[in-house]
Amino acid sequence: MKFPRLPVLLLALALTAPFASARTHADSQSESAASRHAAAHAKEAAVPAPPSAYNDHPKLVVILVIDQFRGDYLDRYRADFKNRGFNLFLTKGAYFPDCYYDYANTKTAPGHATIGTGAYTDGHGISSNDWWDLARNHDRPVTSVEDERYRLVGLPNATKPVTGSSPRNLLASTVGDELRLATQGQSKVFGISLKDRAAILPSGSAANGAYWIDPVSGDFITSTFYTSQLPDWVAAFNSGDSIAQAEQEAGVSSVTNFYEQVGSTPAANSYELNFAEALIQGEQLGQGTTTDLLTISLSANDIMGHAKGPDSSDEQQMVDGLDTQLDTFFTWLDKNIPGGLGNVWVALTADHGVAPIPATAAQYGFNAATIDLQKLASSLDYAINMKFSPGEKVQYILPHQELPYLSLNQAEFMKAGINEAEAEGAVQQLLPAAVASLSPPAPEPPPSDEPAPTAQPGEPTIQPSDKRLPPRPELFRSYTREPLADGPYPPTPWGELLAHSYSPNGGWYIMVIPTAFQMETMKTAQTTHYSPYSYDRHVPLGFFGAPFSAGIYHGRVEPVDIAATFAALLGINQPSASVGHILTQALKPASEVIYPKPKPIPPVHTRHAEAPAAHHARPPTTPKATHP
Ligand SMILES: [Zn+2]
Repeated sequence: MKFPRLPVLLLALALTAPFASARTHADSQSESAASRHAAAHAKEAAVPAPPSAYNDHPKLVVILVIDQFRGDYLDRYRADFKNRGFNLFLTKGAYFPDCYYDYANTKTAPGHATIGTGAYTDGHGISSNDWWDLARNHDRPVTSVEDERYRLVGLPNATKPVTGSSPRNLLASTVGDELRLATQGQSKVFGISLKDRAAILPSGSAANGAYWIDPVSGDFITSTFYTSQLPDWVAAFNSGDSIAQAEQEAGVSSVTNFYEQVGSTPAANSYELNFAEALIQGEQLGQGTTTDLLTISLSANDIMGHAKGPDSSDEQQMVDGLDTQLDTFFTWLDKNIPGGLGNVWVALTADHGVAPIPATAAQYGFNAATIDLQKLASSLDYAINMKFSPGEKVQYILPHQELPYLSLNQAEFMKAGINEAEAEGAVQQLLPAAVASLSPPAPEPPPSDEPAPTAQPGEPTIQPSDKRLPPRPELFRSYTREPLADGPYPPTPWGELLAHSYSPNGGWYIMVIPTAFQMETMKTAQTTHYSPYSYDRHVPLGFFGAPFSAGIYHGRVEPVDIAATFAALLGINQPSASVGHILTQALKPASEVIYPKPKPIPPVHTRHAEAPAAHHARPPTTPKATHP
């Protein structure tokens, strides 16, 4: 036999306790004798309880999300990495280079909700960053986390209450929520980000707190959903020199919008990681008798990435900077968590990827047009009026649209006596022509098919050809809401991906999917993410921690696997809508999982009081219930 007898003994112990309570009263005497016997053996062999959240193995779980961090970046810039920033995952941890979201709405809010819940939009309900909810607001879409029943806390210079935020739309529990439930509130769970949705959604409904910034000042704030007053350590962080330091590091002065000016630079990552350290200290994470969990969403890469694109030198600088910043953060954890980094698990992933800048993709020959959604809505409105209310100018398509959804003005359709199926069906029918109407006028035929003048030595050649037509907007597929909700779906991976994208939020809508490499026309940004295409769905997935066997693991995995894997290793329930798989290929055999012992705490003097408790034969670390 390869394995020692220890696991057999453990099994016997584990079986004894639950079976005792299920048996008849007559059995109880011999039962308790058996329990005493087992307990006595356990004492002799000093068998520790298996590592789990209940006995603080690990001390702390960190879920690190980099906003808009595509899965290819770590391979592309790997030669730049030093020390144990990204290398913590690439060489000391388990790294999965082929991680793809399995849904079609690759936006920030659904991505973060997916990471926390281990479910997709059809499970957690979050379809986009904002959506139209005419019952709550007639003037603009509501955000995924805004909640008028609460107010913001810590907003500097606020003269009147400002609408707060909460996970009200999150329909599933997160791995953090399950940790709170399993330990009866003993484990602490927090979420932080520059963005409210990215702090709130991955941490969940039972989180002890979530912090994000006031975009103007950069102060960390929260909502009365969590607390009515900033804890002292947050107030101290805000009034310290961190903001000035970040502004200096970003090279900006007289800042009028911290989120834009500092948030788009690598300095924002240091700023957030400094706040994470302040939180870990302020809330004493990793110091309790059960496992704590922190989600950190680093926003800078997204704010910069929209403006500069994935192939820019700014992207490389951000990645290389973050490598150093993570090294600093992990070193800090090593010094400040009892027993060091060996008592911490870290997961690394992203909420979505990003598309190449359309002009760049077009240079390679793709039909990478942008779609002016305002013009598309006008064109549709014109055609719908012709159909249902000739001569009128009813606004049937709501303003402020963001792909992949197109929201309909339910009230106007109902006024015209048109039901949902009819309305969505009509818009869907009119959509291809409306998209085609956005095409630039057909160019004059090229004057000749003579080859272009050859480039001078040193000049770039025109690739692939200067004879190609300019890109034109093109629809790939569209889906009305009702079949999205109930199917039938094609019995293919595409059908599953669509099913995963459904949410009842957003009223009446159509899901609009343009051809690959196309996106909406944007005023300030150069590129974005929203689609079912691989570049938007590909994200990194890395783990570091005692249970993980170091290596590069090829093969499709999904961000939903994080919650499932962590839940399994922590010995807790998977989140309520979890569909993830446990990544067993990267797990060490349990007998090889070793946690460093924290420095012993000086023994407290006790008077041999342990004897009478033995016959309960319960796990030695059953948490005491505290008021959550
Ligand atoms: Zn983004």
